[in-house]
Amino acid sequence: MARAVKGQGGARRAPLFKVRRSRVHGRGVFALRRIRKGTRIIEYLGERISHRVADRRYEDHDENDNHTFLFSVDRGLVIDAGVEGNDARFINHSCEPNCESVIERRRVFIDALRDIAPGEELSYDYQIGRERGDPPNVDEIYACRCGSKDCRGTMLWPPRRGNAAKRAGKQRRASRS
Ligand SMILES: [Zn+2]
Repeated sequence: MARAVKGQGGARRAPLFKVRRSRVHGRGVFALRRIRKGTRIIEYLGERISHRVADRRYEDHDENDNHTFLFSVDRGLVIDAGVEGNDARFINHSCEPNCESVIERRRVFIDALRDIAPGEELSYDYQIGRERGDPPNVDEIYACRCGSKDCRGTMLWPPRRGNAAKRAGKQRRASRS
């Protein structure tokens, strides 16, 4: 599935990236040409809903399915890329990412952290927050196999159990692709 994205990185230029199968997880997003550090690559789009609605929407999903299209922006807002989402939802997590998520006026953008070569898979640190009541196997559910030298072994943040962190980042709750 290779879909060109219009309006990202200059409408008339060749697309910056494409979606294809990834060795890390399902589909991934890969640079088609050189992307300079600081480039705003894509906005994370989807339906804008409350945490309560997000929880209710996915409460029946298998908690061992870690595939999440939810992005927690702040206490009052979650973006559900499972509804009207764009290719940003296919960008995988890495502990040594080449992109970062940036929140500006309650919108989420994915920016290049460094220069990215054509063919490289795009990634950012999901920093999925820990929550009270996480199942004991939460680290297995959100295990990271990004393969980077400093892989912390989990997509959760902070890396240690027992510390709840309220911060922006991808959010748990399963969502099937
Ligand atoms: Zn990792």
